[in-house]
Amino acid sequence: MKTFVMKGIGQVGFAEKPMPRPGPMDAIIRTTMALICTSDSHTVRGAIGPRENLTLGHEAVGVVHEVGPEVRGFKAGERIVVGAITPDWGDPASQGGHSSQSGQALGGWKFANIKDGVFAEYFHVNDADANLAHIPRKVPDEAAVYCADMLSTGLMAAENADIPIGGAVAVFALGPSKFGADATVDFSRQDAVAAVMQLTAGAGVDSSIEALGGDLTFQNAIKVTKPGGTISNAGYHGEGEFVHIPRLDWGVGMAEKTIRTGLCPGGRLRMERLLRLLEAGRVDPTPLTTHRFRFDEMPKAFETMDKKLDGIIKPLILFSS
Ligand code: ZN
Repeated sequence: MKTFVMKGIGQVGFAEKPMPRPGPMDAIIRTTMALICTSDSHTVRGAIGPRENLTLGHEAVGVVHEVGPEVRGFKAGERIVVGAITPDWGDPASQGGHSSQSGQALGGWKFANIKDGVFAEYFHVNDADANLAHIPRKVPDEAAVYCADMLSTGLMAAENADIPIGGAVAVFALGPSKFGADATVDFSRQDAVAAVMQLTAGAGVDSSIEALGGDLTFQNAIKVTKPGGTISNAGYHGEGEFVHIPRLDWGVGMAEKTIRTGLCPGGRLRMERLLRLLEAGRVDPTPLTTHRFRFDEMPKAFETMDKKLDGIIKPLILFSS
C-alpha cells in the first residue's frame, strides 16, 4: 500500500509498505480523509528525535476494513473517526484519568510517533472498541475529521483553563478568530500584553490559553493572567531547551497562578461527545479547511503546510475510495 513517510530528519516522501494486520483487539482502517497538522512538521524537523521511514499523520477518518476477533463494537464497512491519541486503556495512567500519558509521558500519542500514522491507504488502530467512534449519518467526513485532534485539543484547552462564569479569557495562538472571540489583538501591530491589560481595564484575565507552543506566548500568557488565575498550555513547544516563566509576573512563585498542561484527549467517549456537537450544529470546524489535496499530491500539500504558504490553516487530504 502507498504511504507518506518521514524518511529522516527534514526528508519526506512516498513509500510502499505491506498492509497492516490487526491483533485480537485491533482494527485496520481504510483512510478516506486526513488533515495535516503542524505537529507533523515539528516531527519532520526532528522535535521528537530521528525517525526512519515512519508514516506521518494522526488526524483521519475512514471505513473499517478489518477487525480482530475480540472487537465487539465495530465491523467492516462502518464509517469511523479515530482520535489522534489512541491510549492503552488498561494502563494505570488511563485508570488514573490521564489516558494520553498511558505507558509513558505522551504515551497515548502513537500515530507518527511510536508507530506508523494515518497518511496511508490503510492504518492500524490499537484497542479498537475504546479508540474508534461511529460517525453519525448527518455528519460529513470533512467535519468529523476535526474531532481527531483540533476539536478535542481546543476544547481541552478551555476545559483545563478553569474558566469562571463570566470570566475573561485570553487565547494566544495563530488561529482563526471568528470562533467566538470578542476582541482580537494583532501582535505584529501592538504589544499583546499591553493590549490585553487595556482590554481588561488593567485587571488581567481569569484564564489564558497558550495554543501556539512559543516561549514568548507562554510568558505573555502568564503576564496577562490575574493572581489566582489559570494558564492552560495546549501548544506544542517544539524547540529550545527551556520554556521560561517570568518571575515577577508569576508573583515570585506565590501569586497562585496555576499552569496546567495536557495532550489531546482521545477515546471513544470523547469522540462521540465531539461528534454530537457537530451533529447538533453547535460548531462547524470546516471553515478551518483552507486547502484540499489528493493523497497523490501529498508532497505539495506537506510543503504548503510546512512553510505556511498561501494563507494555509488546515489542508484536507482526500483519499480515493
Ligand atoms: Zn494534530
